Amino acid sequence: MQGKLPIKAYKYRIYPTDAQVVFFAKTFGCCRFVWNKMLEEKLQAYKKKERIPQPTPAKYKKEFPFLKEVDCFALVAVQNHLEDAFHNHFKNRKLFKLPKFKKKREKQSYTTYNTNNSIRVDFEKSLLYLPKLRKGVKIELHRRFDGKIKSVTVSRTHDGKYYASILVETDNPRNNVVESKSKACGIDLGLEHFVTVTNDFGSYKVEHPKYLRRGEERLKRLQKSFSRKQKGSKNSEKARLRLARQHAYISNARNDFLHKLSKAIIDENQVVVVEDINVKGLLKTRLAKSISDSGWSKFLSYLKYKAEWYGRTFIQVDCFYPSSKLCHRCGYKNEDLALHDRTWCCPACGETHDRDVNASINLYFVGLGRHEGMQALVDDRSPNGLPQKPSCDETGSSTTYG
Ligand SMILES: [Zn+2]
Repeated sequence: MQGKLPIKAYKYRIYPTDAQVVFFAKTFGCCRFVWNKMLEEKLQAYKKKERIPQPTPAKYKKEFPFLKEVDCFALVAVQNHLEDAFHNHFKNRKLFKLPKFKKKREKQSYTTYNTNNSIRVDFEKSLLYLPKLRKGVKIELHRRFDGKIKSVTVSRTHDGKYYASILVETDNPRNNVVESKSKACGIDLGLEHFVTVTNDFGSYKVEHPKYLRRGEERLKRLQKSFSRKQKGSKNSEKARLRLARQHAYISNARNDFLHKLSKAIIDENQVVVVEDINVKGLLKTRLAKSISDSGWSKFLSYLKYKAEWYGRTFIQVDCFYPSSKLCHRCGYKNEDLALHDRTWCCPACGETHDRDVNASINLYFVGLGRHEGMQALVDDRSPNGLPQKPSCDETGSSTTYG
């Protein structure tokens, strides 16, 4: 065996019995309790500028014997998460704030590790076995997995649903790789469209799915309705639940869309090129809303790890590479291009460009390894070059996945 095997996450809905619900609630509570205790100790030392201690959960078991009733690996996981949080903070204080105290109202979850087969899945009976639970939890196994279970995170959403996210050490997933049809593709991340893609077959635009737009409108309405209700009333609780359900729906729907789109792109292309946009930097500008909604950073991370799994090449070009400003035909650089210019005409060769399509073509050329001198493009129009005119017109042939 060479190197580490890739880890894959599988998330399933689970249906705990009443007794199991009680056990989960206890475990969530103990994890929160231990987190807050350890955090308090650390923060006290931090404020006094003393050396930060590394307390272990075992330390509290004598004083708080109820901690012995829950899965001890869940408490160890809390300790690990907290250490990671501090470690990240000291590595990059801007990006990682100090960890916060956990409240009961937040999404509840706990993670536990597999030791000596303490976590198992029975695919025949649809049961998940967890430490300290004698009977398995009913689980909806909508897909199978092979490999060794590393850990499980049990979570309860705001609307009272339970999920188990299982981390599995899989065999090399390249075993079921589809052969790519296109040598390369360039992806331009847009504001009007989610992305514009160019590959060996031409260009196309992918819209933000309509169901997400509609879902977000509904979310706004529910948010308003919730804030109008009197706090603590029955109606307020009902509105809170409806709001939580809508939040969950949108986040699931968006993830589903991003997974399907990134998988389709990885399946089709051997080399995938995107701009290295500084998403975090952009988020600070007034574009914030539409960018955070569009889920770019998630999309890029999905592309990246899927590329790794399926043996594709993933390239993020330097954010100073002017993919929008270069004419893909002659290499002329349009310094005056403004953010609101959706189309422009190249003064050097006369070609009219759709901004996003032109950018994605330039990124596609990077993928083909022809980005160095743009001049070279003119002389070297090889058969696997782009169609003379991209097949995407002004309005764009839009594809919606999901
Ligand atoms: Zn030109």
